[in-house]
Amino acid sequence: MSDCIFCKIVEGKIPSRKVYEDDDMLAFHDINPCAPVHFMIIPKKHVDSLAHVGPEHAAVLGKMMVKAGSLAREQGSPDGFRTIVNTGRIGRQDVYHLHIHVIGGPNPLPRMIAKE
Ligand code: 5GP
Ligand code: ZN
Repeated sequence: MSDCIFCKIVEGKIPSRKVYEDDDMLAFHDINPCAPVHFMIIPKKHVDSLAHVGPEHAAVLGKMMVKAGSLAREQGSPDGFRTIVNTGRIGRQDVYHLHIHVIGGPNPLPRMIAKE
């Protein structure tokens, strides 16, 4: 997609700090990290969000999930991590190119969502 910032990162038109890349996916550090480890895993092929996927995306989504743990360990989150996929208006998604946030570090994170 021409005006998608994550597609531009995939194409190298916007720089990023790369964590991992293969034919199907890219992982790169979040520009505004919320923890000592905070990177994103994205499919190289554009899809807006988790609300827009179909069976044709199952393989790449599986690969992204399978890769999260080893990348988190390599990046300095040795004993677990959190994955977040913000989706749509209700999920407060800002960038409409599907991405898995992988968040962690040496110490436990705050609890997930404050109860109302
Ligand atoms: P969302 O709210 O859509 O789940 O998360 C989008 C994330 O993308 C945010 O955490 C934001 O910091 C990150 N982000 C936005 N623009 C850029 C960028 O140009 N480069 C990188 N590396 N991260 C970005
Ligand atoms: Zn895109």
